[in-house]
Amino acid sequence: MEIIPGIHQIRGRVANCFLVDDVELMLIDTGMPGNSSKITEYVKKTLQRNPQDIKTIVITHQHMDHVGSLSKMKEITGAKVAIHHADADYIRGKKPHSGPAYANAMVKLIQFIYRTKPVEPDILLKNGDVIGAYQVIHTPGHTPGSICLYNSVNKAIFVGDNLRYTQGKLMNPDMRLLPEYEKYKESMKRISKLDVEVILTGHTKAVIGGGSELLREFVEGF
Ligand SMILES: [Zn+2]
Ligand SMILES: [Zn+2]
Repeated sequence: MEIIPGIHQIRGRVANCFLVDDVELMLIDTGMPGNSSKITEYVKKTLQRNPQDIKTIVITHQHMDHVGSLSKMKEITGAKVAIHHADADYIRGKKPHSGPAYANAMVKLIQFIYRTKPVEPDILLKNGDVIGAYQVIHTPGHTPGSICLYNSVNKAIFVGDNLRYTQGKLMNPDMRLLPEYEKYKESMKRISKLDVEVILTGHTKAVIGGGSELLREFVEGF
């Protein structure tokens, strides 16, 4: 569904992914393994474009529910893959996915079942980089290389798993998924200073309007 003009959210089985429809298409996250046909169908049917128009795939962080269909989507589109350098080794398959042990065992099982392949990123992001119309904001805490993507013109921000939006409030992910809580709080304080209307989250519905007030309210609760 189109959230605001040019930003489309595709609800996967577990996580959301997003298409930014500009001159070129940019895909933000890819969902679980097996999600690629959902994305390509959306591009063809709703956007009336070709999957090969996706020129860039930006990954908010290395967790399986966001990179599960990455190797497949890269294969289909030939797009350049961008990820923060601190999360790059996880998608290269050089480091086990971070998180609790049970989650790691689950990731290994999923990788085995779906035969997901490691991906060599084309673009290593750092704080302050600009990709498409979006500024990269490094927000470590959930993972070392978690990022937000912010556009000061439409005042939209993609926050990955940093925030959930439920019952009219922003919430942090489960504490077990915040291995570096102090860094996380610092990260959220930084983004609460931005002028934000729209917040696109990795697992819940989007905030459409009034993002800054919700962010300020959220960080005041720390
Ligand atoms: Zn995550
Ligand atoms: Zn997630």
